[in-house]
Amino acid sequence: MGSMPLLTKYKGRQPKYRGVNWREARLAALEIYGWRCVTCQTDLKAIPRGYVVHHHVPFKAFLIEEVANATDNLRPMCKSCHAKEERLGKTTTGRVVRQG
Ligand SMILES: [Zn+2]
Repeated sequence: MGSMPLLTKYKGRQPKYRGVNWREARLAALEIYGWRCVTCQTDLKAIPRGYVVHHHVPFKAFLIEEVANATDNLRPMCKSCHAKEERLGKTTTGRVVRQG
């Protein structure tokens, strides 16, 4: 009755809980990796909705959120590389980042 459509009809992917410090952790990882996809070096700032910050070791594998979200467990990736990563079921991006 004239009300705005609500998002509750949406049954697709919902944002998953990633811990209390997720927002900061994710941003910290993006800064450390220079806002580039760890796999293809795409400039992530150029694709604001086209990237994710991937957990190298899955978030659910940790008991402590802050440990799961440690920056050395996070890998910023464009969605295309992330899709490949998820399809492989294992990570191929375990390289160490040189911190300046
Ligand atoms: Zn990529």
